[in-house]
Amino acid sequence: MFDAHVHMGYFPRWGKTEPYYYSPRRIFGALSRAGVDEFIVSSTNAIWDVEGTSMHAEAREMKRWAGQRAHIFFWVSLRYLERDPCLVRLPEGLYEGVKLHGGESPWLQKPEQLMRVLSLARERAFPVQIHTGKSDNGIGEYLPYCRRFPELHIDLAHGLPHADVAKALAELPHVYVDTAFVSPQTVQAWLDAGVDERRIMFGSDIPAPQRHAKIGLSAYVRRESQMFSSQHILSDNARRFLGQKPPYV
Ligand SMILES: [Zn+2]
Repeated sequence: MFDAHVHMGYFPRWGKTEPYYYSPRRIFGALSRAGVDEFIVSSTNAIWDVEGTSMHAEAREMKRWAGQRAHIFFWVSLRYLERDPCLVRLPEGLYEGVKLHGGESPWLQKPEQLMRVLSLARERAFPVQIHTGKSDNGIGEYLPYCRRFPELHIDLAHGLPHADVAKALAELPHVYVDTAFVSPQTVQAWLDAGVDERRIMFGSDIPAPQRHAKIGLSAYVRRESQMFSSQHILSDNARRFLGQKPPYV
């Protein structure tokens, strides 16, 4: 099984007043217990680690635990980009993609910088995971950028607003969505609307669910993944998204 949307780093947790640290070991342990073989992970520490130093150390630690099973995306913030405009300070070979979150950095108000990150990602053949939201940072706002980069694999994470998914995926064959906080009913509605199943990736977004409820991380991942039976959604699509060569269908 492949979980295409996971985080490590500091994050709010239900019942705690201070942000809680989700270490590589904790996240890797939860995923392993849930039966996840491989995963795409990015660090929420991007919110404060404007130099990236702590994220690199954390990424290395994740690699020590998980090795090739971890595919680490570097979460680029606007403040980080100011310090490293061409992303040349990223350690060689550590990262396999880029994560962008419009709630953390107002990318849509900085089109020039957003274009720059996407161009750099294209140069490096880095797939990109972009957070989408219901009322702002929605799929529609990112579509013009997706259209400009047809070579880039883009995960419009959460697929919000859900009603926009079918049209966007039909138009753009390089765009994917993940199932983080998406109900299986919604995924079924996408499929009924003609969405290509090969562009939907299973994603749990752990540890985010612990922000809203007292729930075990591995129990959550197991429960969510059991709602899907498709090998494409549970595994193959994420491999294609990463640019891996078959064997997969
Ligand atoms: Zn997320």
